[in-house]
Amino acid sequence: MREQFTELSASEFFYRHKDLAGFTNPTRAIYGTVRELVENSLDAAEVHGILLKLHLKVSRLNGEKPAEGHEEKLHVHIEDNAGGIPREKIPTAFGRVLVSSKYKLRQTRGLFGLGGKMALIYGQSTTHEPFTIRSGTGKRSPIVEYVMMVDIEKNVPCILKRRRLQNPSGWRGTVIDLTTRGDWAHAKQKIIEYLTNTAIAAPYVTITFEDPDGTQCKFEPATTTMPKPPKETRPHPAGLDVEGIKRLATSTKATNLLAFLCSQFQRIGPVTAKKLLQFAGINPRKDPHKLAREELLQLSNAMNSFPDFKAPDPSCLSPIGAEQLEAGIKKQLKPAFVTAITRKPSSYSGFPFTVEAGLAYGGELPPNVSGKIPVVRFANKIPLLFDEGSDVARKAIDEVNWKLYRIDPTMSIVAVTSIVSTRIPFRSAGKEMVADRPEVERELLNSIRECARQLGRYLSRHQRMAYDKRRLDVFQKYLPKLAEFSTRLSGKSKVPNIDPLLKAVTRYQEEESSEEES
Ligand code: ADP
Ligand code: MG
Repeated sequence: MREQFTELSASEFFYRHKDLAGFTNPTRAIYGTVRELVENSLDAAEVHGILLKLHLKVSRLNGEKPAEGHEEKLHVHIEDNAGGIPREKIPTAFGRVLVSSKYKLRQTRGLFGLGGKMALIYGQSTTHEPFTIRSGTGKRSPIVEYVMMVDIEKNVPCILKRRRLQNPSGWRGTVIDLTTRGDWAHAKQKIIEYLTNTAIAAPYVTITFEDPDGTQCKFEPATTTMPKPPKETRPHPAGLDVEGIKRLATSTKATNLLAFLCSQFQRIGPVTAKKLLQFAGINPRKDPHKLAREELLQLSNAMNSFPDFKAPDPSCLSPIGAEQLEAGIKKQLKPAFVTAITRKPSSYSGFPFTVEAGLAYGGELPPNVSGKIPVVRFANKIPLLFDEGSDVARKAIDEVNWKLYRIDPTMSIVAVTSIVSTRIPFRSAGKEMVADRPEVERELLNSIRECARQLGRYLSRHQRMAYDKRRLDVFQKYLPKLAEFSTRLSGKSKVPNIDPLLKAVTRYQEEESSEEES
C-alpha cells in the first residue's frame, strides 16, 4: 500500500492542535478568547499612544444557565477606542492565520499572528457561526463592517457580508462580535483575575466588563501617564543565526561587507565591523551578495562568539515602569505598603530584556496561610495565570531567603514580576510560562531581593514604632501613679509635673511617623 501525503494549511494545523495555542479545554478556550482579544486592543492602543477604553461583554445565548461544569454557547462582544484597522487589511488580519502587523523587532503582546484568529476559529468551529468585525480609523475614513468566517482548510478569509457606514464623528476603534462555546462557570474567576492584573500592568487603561451572570466590573485608571512606546530596531548580531544573516546579505543594497554590517545591524559601527571581520578572517571589501556558504558560516560563528559587542539596544522595549507598577498595585490590590523597581536592561543570546518586580504588603491583602508567597506574573505586560509551577518567576521567589530580610512568608504579601523582551523565552505557544534562562532568572532574583530589602526596612521601622507605642502607653499609664506615690512616700504635698517627660516621648513618636510618611 502506498502512503498518502497531504499538506496542511496554517489554520488547519492550529485547528487540529488548538492546545498549542492554549485552547486546551472549554475553560481555557473562553479564557483564551477574552485574553487574545483584550491583548490585541492593548497592543493597538499602545502603538499609537492612545489611552485605551475597552468594553467587554460576555453573554449567554441560550438564556439558561447550564449545570456547573458544563460548557455553553456564549456571545463575546469587545469594543475598543484603539487605532482601528485599515479596511483593506481586515479580511486577512482576521481571516488568515499567521498574518500580523507585529512581525518586527519591537516589544508587543502579540507574536505569532495567531491569537485573535485562534479565538475566531475556535468559535466558528464549535458553533458554526460567522463573526463580525467593525472598525474605523478616524477622521475622513468610513466605518467598515465585515461578517466573515475563515476557510480553515485553505487558510483564507471568507467574506459573507460587507458594508460601509458613515463616520461623521470620526470614530476610531474596533468592535468584534463572536459566538463561541466555553465553560463560563469555571473561567469566570480567572477572567476577572486576568482583567485585574491587566489593570495592574497597564494602569492607564479603563476596562468595563459585564458577564452572563449580571456581574459588572469597572477598572478605572490609576494614572494617565503611558510608558514610552517601543521603537523598532535592527537585529543585534549575536541574536541571528546563519539563515538570518544570509537573508540580510541577499537583500542588502550594500556592496561590501563593511557597509553591510554597519547598515543592517545594531551596535556595529565601522571600528567594530573591521574588528569583527578580522576576527572572522573575511575580507571587508567582499560583496555580501557573493558570500560562499562556508563564508556565511564563518561570519555567523564569528558573530556568535565575538566578545566586544555592546549589549542590545533596549529602546525596542517598553517596561511598565516602577512608578506605574506601584500605582497599578495600589489601585487594584489596596495594600498598606508597596515597593517596585525596574532593573537596567539586560540581554540573552542577543535579545534585550528588562525585569521589573514589586512587593505589596498588608492592607486588604489576605495572609498566606500556605507560607508560599503568591506571585502576579507578567510577560510583555500580559498577565500569566496558568502553569505557575514551571515559571521562572515562581522559581526565583522560592529561591529568595526571606529570613535574611526578616520577612515571614505567611504574612499578607504578594510579589509581582514582569519581564519585557523582543523574545520572551516562553516554554510554549500558549504563552503561559517563561523558561528559566539563567540571565533572566538572575535579574529576577536581584529585583525581588531589592524589593525584599525595602519591605524588610518598612517592617522593622513598623516594629520599632509599635514597640515605642507600647512603651509610651506604659509611661502614660504608670507615670502619673508613680509620681503620686513617690510624692507621698517622700512626705511632700506637691506632685511634680510629668508633662514635659511625656511630651518628650510623644515628640519622638511624632517624628517617627512623619519620617514614615515622607
Ligand atoms: P497578533 O496579535 O499576534 O499579530 P492576531 O491574530 O491576534 O495576531 O491579530 C492579527 C492582527 O490584527 C494584529 O497584528 C493587528 O494588526 C490586527 N488587530 C487585531 N485586533 C485589533 C484591534 N483591536 N485593533 C487594531 N488592530 C487589531
Ligand atoms: Mg494577538
